[in-house]
Amino acid sequence: MTSRGGTYTLLLELQHPTSIDVGALGEIAFEHRWYAYTGSALGPGGFARVDRHREVAAGEREVRHWHVDYLLGHPNTTIDTVWISPGADSECAIAANLPGEPIPGFGSSDCDCHAHLVGTDERERLAGALNDRHARNPSNHEV
Ligand SMILES: [Zn+2]
Repeated sequence: MTSRGGTYTLLLELQHPTSIDVGALGEIAFEHRWYAYTGSALGPGGFARVDRHREVAAGEREVRHWHVDYLLGHPNTTIDTVWISPGADSECAIAANLPGEPIPGFGSSDCDCHAHLVGTDERERLAGALNDRHARNPSNHEV
């Protein structure tokens, strides 16, 4: 196991309009859209956190710790693409002003950002912005 992590963004597809109880944020009515969640994996284990997110999305892990776990854990949600920036502590910079509608407070309990999750109907525009901001992309493989 490596301790080298960095910053990552998950591009998620929500298949239907879905209301999801997001822990302390309460119930959020998500539209049928693409969502980009940006987080950092700088602690022990590094990008193993991304694998953990995949396990939650696959229904293999029941723990709900971060806001995104509630979204990932819903059967209507799938992980489309993962971008990573190894060694970068740039979660807030990457999440800022992405082309989409912020979900207030989502993923940003520990910083001053409006949100670390945005939703949009325009997948290509969002993916293009993520291509520009991340060092390595896109990857659907082991990171
Ligand atoms: Zn932030």
